[in-house]
Amino acid sequence: MFDAVLIEKSHSGQEAGLSRIDTAQLPQGDVLVEVAWSTLNYKDALAITGASPVVRNFPMVPGIDFAGVVAESSHSDFKPGDRVVLNGWGVGERHWGGLAARARVSGDWLVPLPEGISLRNAMAIGTAGYTAMLCVLALERNGVLPGSGEVAVTGAAGGVGSIATMLLAARGYSVAAVTGRPDEADYLTGLGATTIIDRVEFTQVGRPLAKERWVGAIDVAGGAVLANVLAAMRYRGVVAACGLAGGMELPTTVAPFILRAVTLVGIDSVMCPKPERLMAWQRLAKELDMATLQTMTTEVQLSDVVSTAPRFLEGIVRGRILVPVNPQLH
Ligand code: NDP
Repeated sequence: MFDAVLIEKSHSGQEAGLSRIDTAQLPQGDVLVEVAWSTLNYKDALAITGASPVVRNFPMVPGIDFAGVVAESSHSDFKPGDRVVLNGWGVGERHWGGLAARARVSGDWLVPLPEGISLRNAMAIGTAGYTAMLCVLALERNGVLPGSGEVAVTGAAGGVGSIATMLLAARGYSVAAVTGRPDEADYLTGLGATTIIDRVEFTQVGRPLAKERWVGAIDVAGGAVLANVLAAMRYRGVVAACGLAGGMELPTTVAPFILRAVTLVGIDSVMCPKPERLMAWQRLAKELDMATLQTMTTEVQLSDVVSTAPRFLEGIVRGRILVPVNPQLH
């Protein structure tokens, strides 16, 4: 038996709490993993609070990612003792996830953890950091290179935004951090941001085109913020859009696309093909400063996950929240 967060259907909708689970109850899969570290992501908060219909089957163990050590495997790529990381593939939504001491999954979903990333740091990065890297790769693929001008990052003090800021600064981009928390300016400057912009400038739907400012942008907000970012892109600018922290709608026009040749690139971490995942994790191992990463992490115990989740929906989480599940594992 082991501890797991479990979301069950209830008469009021759904209820989440800490439960004891038997390994035999885990879903099918060819690899059993001892989870060392898990984490809380925005999507986990939606699943746990029920604020959005993230959970597709009940009961559900949430947790869209985990890092751990293989305990049993009948998959040819993995053997007991291997260190692995998992992001997405519907885990924590359709298939029991990482907020538990054990997980059984398909080996096709697992990425071998690169040397140089500890199990703890794998989850300090988590799906937020891996998605931030997918955004950086998308900007590069579309020709936004360091030295070509300023790149904006929205939701900069959150998980994706903090790591995107760090990654871009480390590669030599100059980063404009857009935040609803200008009091976090020192934190963001410490991650490498060169300009801090108050999000309030972007929350009202503005004109279809604004003054040209940025060559690239990574947006976690959607809604009016993304519309205003699109309007402020320089000619041939590129925006990587990955989130909806500010809303699902996109109140924009075609003007940025047909008059400024702006490119809007969608980023999805969940079903991203394996070769790109492997590349993202290799680049994270090489480029992310692991000491600075520690400045953006806090820890909550598995037993406090349910009470912590609503903080995401209030937009007050800074950086990354780690969940030590079996932190003695290496
Ligand atoms: P966090 O909660 O850590 O960060 C989100 C940040 O967005 C907040 O910290 C805040 O930053 C900003 N924000 C909050 N409310 C609003 C608002 N109303 N309008 C504009 N900005 C707001 O979440 P994550 O970084 O983990 O995730 C960010 C988004 O990316 C989420 O929507 C998540 O679902 C999505 N995501 C998508 C993935 C994909 O595969 N496409 C993968 C991972 C995440 P600040 O105070 O600095 O403005």
